Amino acid sequence: MPMIRVGRVASPGVVDFLTREVPELTGDQVLIAIRASAICGSDLHIFKGRHPSVSLPATIGHEFSGVIEKVGANVTRVSVGDRVCVEPVVVCGMCVACRHGDYGYCENISFTYRMGDGAMADYVKVHEPYVYRLPDNMSFATGALVEPLAVAVHATRRADVKLGDRVAVFGGGAIGVLIAALSRRFGAAEVTVVDFDDPRLDLARSFGATRVLNPQHDDVLDQLDRIDKSFECVGVPDTLRQAMLCLRKNGLATVVGIAEVTDVAIPVSRFITHEIKVQGSQGYCWDFPTALACAQELEIERLITHTFSLDELQIALDTCLNRASDVLKVIIEP
Ligand SMILES: [Zn+2]
Ligand SMILES: [Zn+2]
Repeated sequence: MPMIRVGRVASPGVVDFLTREVPELTGDQVLIAIRASAICGSDLHIFKGRHPSVSLPATIGHEFSGVIEKVGANVTRVSVGDRVCVEPVVVCGMCVACRHGDYGYCENISFTYRMGDGAMADYVKVHEPYVYRLPDNMSFATGALVEPLAVAVHATRRADVKLGDRVAVFGGGAIGVLIAALSRRFGAAEVTVVDFDDPRLDLARSFGATRVLNPQHDDVLDQLDRIDKSFECVGVPDTLRQAMLCLRKNGLATVVGIAEVTDVAIPVSRFITHEIKVQGSQGYCWDFPTALACAQELEIERLITHTFSLDELQIALDTCLNRASDVLKVIIEP
């Protein structure tokens, strides 16, 4: 019986591999031979042992694509050999939110990697309804990045970015850059990306940012005037504060970055006097098909800075943490 490797974070800063037999499939399950698996910011929070809702040890990896290797008896829509990517949510289908179609608000929501089916692995087992076939000309690397693009689609839709809007994005990581790109597609007249790293800002420009600011030499709040919609994509108190303070009256801040500090102070007087709105955005709900449809045109593969083999998972994660400035998206190829 061939064994498969499943990467996990054993303790803060340390990964190891579980070995398992190739799983038997039941019902609507699908076994995917992983070809590309991207490291997400949330994987790094887990790697540091500081994810607000994941404790160690934990398997990691939820942005992936591959080829279907086996299908369960009830699978009808996809077949062996299909090239696919996967929406990695696990929802109950029974709660009020699920029954209204709002599965993103499922009371029992989880993710495949939290159920032990991490995608830093040779194979992963998922359920058919969450499997999406890749267009023929889409690479596996692009397929793996459909998931973070769906996160950006969800946030941009929640903020209802419109023709003529002035948008500010705090954080030039993958999600921030994608939100900037999508905001332009939705018709924003001005999209400013703020980051400490100049190469990231150059990339943000190439994805459609109309202006970039680096707090090391720009007075950000001085430069941002009456923004309609801001996005916080870092997850630290200072950028949340700025995302609120840059807004016009009745402006909207959408908070996307995962915060390691769970409670932060806000500029409460301004919050009231300017009737500022703040909303969270997490994951996606019916956003995957849209992300899949725009992935090629946005050339999201440009976000990839490094590729490693599965054996090099430890080095890959160390690289993400230690060389944060020249790392954007890292792909693991089993
Ligand atoms: Zn992710
Ligand atoms: Zn549910």
